[in-house]
Amino acid sequence: MPRNFCNFAARSNLFSFLPITPMNFISERVNNLAASATIAMSQKSAELRAAGIDVINMSIGEPDFNTPEFIKEAAKKAVDDNYTHYPPVAGYMELRKAVCAKLKSENGLDYSPEQIVVGNGAKQELCNALLAVVNPGDEVIIPVPAWVSYVEMVKLAEGTPVTVYAGVEQDFKITPEQLEAAITPRSRMIMLNSPSNPTGSVYTREELAALAAVLERHPQVVILADDIYEHINYVGGAPSISQFESLKDRMIIVNGVSKAYAMTGWRIGWLAAPTAIAKAVTKLQGQYTSGVSSIAQKAAEAAYLGPQECVEDMRKAFERRRDLIVSLAKEIPGWIVSKPEGAFYIFPEVSSYIGKKYGDKEIRTSGDYVMYLLEEGHVAAVDGDAFCAPGYLRLSYATSEENIREAMRRISEASAKLK
Ligand code: PMP
Ligand code: GLU
Repeated sequence: MPRNFCNFAARSNLFSFLPITPMNFISERVNNLAASATIAMSQKSAELRAAGIDVINMSIGEPDFNTPEFIKEAAKKAVDDNYTHYPPVAGYMELRKAVCAKLKSENGLDYSPEQIVVGNGAKQELCNALLAVVNPGDEVIIPVPAWVSYVEMVKLAEGTPVTVYAGVEQDFKITPEQLEAAITPRSRMIMLNSPSNPTGSVYTREELAALAAVLERHPQVVILADDIYEHINYVGGAPSISQFESLKDRMIIVNGVSKAYAMTGWRIGWLAAPTAIAKAVTKLQGQYTSGVSSIAQKAAEAAYLGPQECVEDMRKAFERRRDLIVSLAKEIPGWIVSKPEGAFYIFPEVSSYIGKKYGDKEIRTSGDYVMYLLEEGHVAAVDGDAFCAPGYLRLSYATSEENIREAMRRISEASAKLK
């Protein structure tokens, strides 16, 4: 009798004693997954706006600028040139060559197109890297506060997230001693994100060298450098852990066009990795998403090969907004505010509001405070808890200076009512 690997009938029979409700069909994998708090909060504020409430949305982290014209033109041309067929799973050769040229000219790194895989945003390439490298039970070190999706992606890959906490008092950066203490023989990967979402902190080259020295002693650990905010920094260039040659044979760089070129909706990200890892990721992608939108790929190619002034113009605007929001946030009583050196977020410590009340509203957690600011101040932020840092909140300042001023005025007014 032929072996049947896909006997769904037999499998569903196993559960025939269960009542048929939708919940029975949801896998443990998905039941155990937390929904993305950044996306949930942004949706909530969109719903409130649709209901006529004038909410200022500072929850989602995406540039408010439109994609530059020359990039949009390249996409239109791609349609006319009939880039309408399945693209190669790993991405068009021209785009992968453009990524290699970027890595060479901007980062001084030598990669060949076989080492590049293009995916649906940096998000998919982060997830692919984990799925390609992590075995069930492997430990993945995540310095926290960290972006909401890191821990959940590790869980999807059946890995064990090992978080290493660095609060505002250490500018949200882990020390080499903390890293050393977190590494065990089961450690399989570390995910490093500088400039950081949600804190905006940027590791210096010296700080990275100290972390690299620890990692050199532990060859079982793959290093994932999430450099998506590389261009948005206020220190004249953000260094990356990927610059350490000694780690290159176990380095995965994840980056993309979403933030630097205001292209979040085009969904183009990529990874650069040792050839074996790039091949593994391509195999994975070949089974569950195939290549990325042909038209978006041609737009991303134009972004890398075209004039780069737009990147600097947007960076300068973010810097002005950073200065503005930090000065206003420092005036809010009880907030402890760091001055971020990159990305477009502030991450104040707000636990002094815990225990305060206004009417029948009591603030028991930073999450309550965030909900209070939404309901009472009509400003959407994200609870620090979603980034593994309860007691904090995140505000994205990728919005106009006018919105920033008004949002901070509302937060200040609503916070003053809490006694
Ligand atoms: N990494 C970090 C730290 C991010 O903040 C984001 C933005 N959501 C991503 C990766 C993913 O970016 P995208 O999928 O839009 O390229
Ligand atoms: N990076 C953004 C954020 O953190 C986009 C939303 C998301 O994918 O989480 O808000």
